[in-house]
Amino acid sequence: MGFDRPDTIVEGGAVEFDASGVATGLVRERAVEPLLGLLGDVTMDDLEAGAASWSERLLRQGVTAISAMCQTTAEGPSGGAGTFEAVGWSALVDRLPFDVQTILITPDVGDVDVYRDTPLHRPGAGRRLDAVKLFLDGTLGGCTACMHLPFSDHPHTSGLATLDPDEAYRRLEATHLAGLSACVHAIGDAANARAAELFGRLLAAHPGAHRHRVEHASVLDEATIQRIAELGLTAVVQPINLHSEAHWLADRVGAQRLSGTYAFRSLLEAGVRLAGSSDAPIESTDVLAALDAAVHRPTLAADQAISGLDALRMYTTAASAVRGTEGRLGSLAVGLQADLVVLSADPTAVRPAEVHVQRTVIGGIDHFVAQGA
Ligand SMILES: [Zn+2]
Repeated sequence: MGFDRPDTIVEGGAVEFDASGVATGLVRERAVEPLLGLLGDVTMDDLEAGAASWSERLLRQGVTAISAMCQTTAEGPSGGAGTFEAVGWSALVDRLPFDVQTILITPDVGDVDVYRDTPLHRPGAGRRLDAVKLFLDGTLGGCTACMHLPFSDHPHTSGLATLDPDEAYRRLEATHLAGLSACVHAIGDAANARAAELFGRLLAAHPGAHRHRVEHASVLDEATIQRIAELGLTAVVQPINLHSEAHWLADRVGAQRLSGTYAFRSLLEAGVRLAGSSDAPIESTDVLAALDAAVHRPTLAADQAISGLDALRMYTTAASAVRGTEGRLGSLAVGLQADLVVLSADPTAVRPAEVHVQRTVIGGIDHFVAQGA
C-alpha cells in the first residue's frame, strides 16, 4: 500500500504503488474522483432502462420507500461521473412508484434550494429533498475508514479523514440552520468519535429538534455510543455488511474492536434509534437478507445480534422516522398510507432468509405479486 509515500496521497485519497514504483491499479477514496470523470457519457435511455429494472427488483424485495444519496459535484463516491447525478435523478424520479427522499452530497447546502425547484421536491406527492450527506472517512474494505489505532491486518495504516473538521462543521451548521437533516458518513471509530463531537458542538450552539444521522456507524467505542444516544442521533446501519465482509472483517478490526463493530445491540440498549439501510449499489438491496444478518451473526460478535422484531423495526418504523414520514408511512394504522408487503412467513418467528416477498403494495396499489401467490 502506498500510504507511506507522500507523493501518492491526494486530499482525502491515495493511489497505490508497488515497491518498484508502478501503480497497482488500486485507487482509494477521493483519488478516484478525477478518474471517474473520464468514463463515457451515460444516455437518458441508459438511465431509464436502469431505473426500470432496478425499480422492479426493489418491488420484488418488498421495498416501498427509498432514500437516495445524490451528488451535485464531483465530490462523492461516483466522482466526476456523478457531477450530473442530481440532474439525472430529477428526470427519473417521477417514474418510480416509491416514496422518495433525496439526500444531496454537496459542499454547498444552497444546492438544496436549487434542486427543490425540480421534481425531487414535491412533498404532497411523496418526493422530498430535505437532507445533506458528507463523508468523514472511507471504508473498512479499502482500509480507509478513520480509526483510532491501525487496522489489525494492515498495521501500517489507520485509515484517513476525507474532510477537514472545520469544513465538516461549516456544512453541518448550514444544514441544521436550513432545517435539513444532516447525514454524516462515519465508519471508523475515530470518524464516529469525530461525528459525535461535531454534532455535540452543533447542538450545543443551536439546540432543538433534528433528524440528524450517522451513516454506517460501523466501528464504535463505548463513549461514542453514549454520545450518539445523548445527542438523539439516529444510527443508519447496513447489517448486510455482516455477510459481505464476513471473510475479512474480524482480521481487519481485530478481536478487541470486533465487539464494537456493527454494534446493533449496544446501540439499541443505549437508546439509539437504529434505522436499516442497504448501502446500495455497494451492497444488495435485499431487505430480508439484511434482517437475517442482523439477527443471526454466529461468528462476528454474536452478542451484538438483535431480535427479529427489533430488526424489522429498523426497516419499518425507525427508517420511516428518520426520513420524517412516520405520520404517513412505516407502520400499519388507520389513517396511514396503505404501503404493505405480504410475506410467506413471519420474519420474527423464522429465519428471515427463508421468507419470501409475495406481494408489494404501495398506496393501496399492487406493484408486485409473486407467481402463484
Ligand atoms: Zn456512506
